Amino acid sequence: MAKKTAKLTKPVSKYKVRYVNPQKQYADHKKEFLKTVDDVFSRGDLINRKDLADFEKKIARMVGVKHAIGVNSGTDALSLSMEAAGIREGDEVIVPGYTFMASVSAICHQKAVPVLVDCKSDYNIDPDEVEKAVNPKTKAIEVVHMNGRVCDMDRIMDIAKKHNLIVIEDAARALGAKYKARSGQWKMAGSFGLAGCFSMYPFKMLGAFGDAGIATTNDDEMAKKLRMLRYNGEDRETRVFYAHGRTALMDNVQAALLNVKLKYFPNWLARRRQIAKLYHKLLAGVDGIAIPKFEDPRYNDSWQNYAIVASRRDELVDFLDKNGVEVLTEWHVPLHKQPVMLPNNISLPVTEKVCAGSVLLPMYPELTDAQVDYACKTVKKFYQN
Ligand SMILES: *Cc1c(COP(=O)(O)O)cnc(C)c1O
Repeated sequence: MAKKTAKLTKPVSKYKVRYVNPQKQYADHKKEFLKTVDDVFSRGDLINRKDLADFEKKIARMVGVKHAIGVNSGTDALSLSMEAAGIREGDEVIVPGYTFMASVSAICHQKAVPVLVDCKSDYNIDPDEVEKAVNPKTKAIEVVHMNGRVCDMDRIMDIAKKHNLIVIEDAARALGAKYKARSGQWKMAGSFGLAGCFSMYPFKMLGAFGDAGIATTNDDEMAKKLRMLRYNGEDRETRVFYAHGRTALMDNVQAALLNVKLKYFPNWLARRRQIAKLYHKLLAGVDGIAIPKFEDPRYNDSWQNYAIVASRRDELVDFLDKNGVEVLTEWHVPLHKQPVMLPNNISLPVTEKVCAGSVLLPMYPELTDAQVDYACKTVKKFYQN
């Protein structure tokens, strides 16, 4: 009897290749993580302590900006940035329709109006569509660096400058992603706009052990407002309340754990780029799928996800699942067709096409070459049938 119970409670994965694998990363660095937690708890450093300040400094340096402000989540980074940037009721904010709902919710939290526009085949917002959507009510453009590719920021910043618009970057998936600007300078995601917003959700580029996020900015006033808004609206130095804020700080223990992870981040980023190249090599020329392009030398992606657009998508996902490859589709129902967005008469042909065929293949630094190889072989096998 006891034997049987033991067998039942042992977790057995049906997957040969998991979509994500946080257990593996934990196992690889377990001692260091546990030591860090013990150290932080023993010091009693729970809220707004030096580990958070250290993490903020390191992220600001890495992104190449003056300030970074640690918050609860990527969603809070976006929402508080919209508020700090002065986006208010009735303002229009242009945002891609191909994104996670949080990009749009951040605008709606301010009672502003999200104006959804279409994306291009690289999943990023189409600058031509942005230009068409600008009108006297437009206050800001929120770009989303989808899957770890920076948007065409030369074009976006030109449009913003011409029409005097604020730019907020949803860089939730793009920590470490770079873009070569017209000036010849390589710039990091999160360093272009008034604010850059990153997610430290466990499965993002740099994942916490729970929810966390951070906002980056070069603007001193913006940084000051964000610091107050995340901490109940109070300036903690003068003890004066300037706003009705939230309780939205990044936990100090999460920051301490992220400081540990940051040491490995350059290697993890390099490994993601290696895996993307391997997928590219193994999936080139497979009939039935469109794979991300590498050719444009302006982009050095972070590869949060390796996303393909597949014909007979649902059948493919089924086949992969049956053969032990776990994948994700984004999004089965496009944002503009979700109940919370209805009614509307929005039509986004490229977004709808991408959503109908989207498959995100497994992608994380701990993935082995053999696992990538197996995933690709399984995809090929499906289309040979
Ligand atoms: C994950 C994500 C967010 C939200 O981040 P959370 O930390 O989960 O709140 C926002 N935008 C995009 C594009 C994301 O992928």
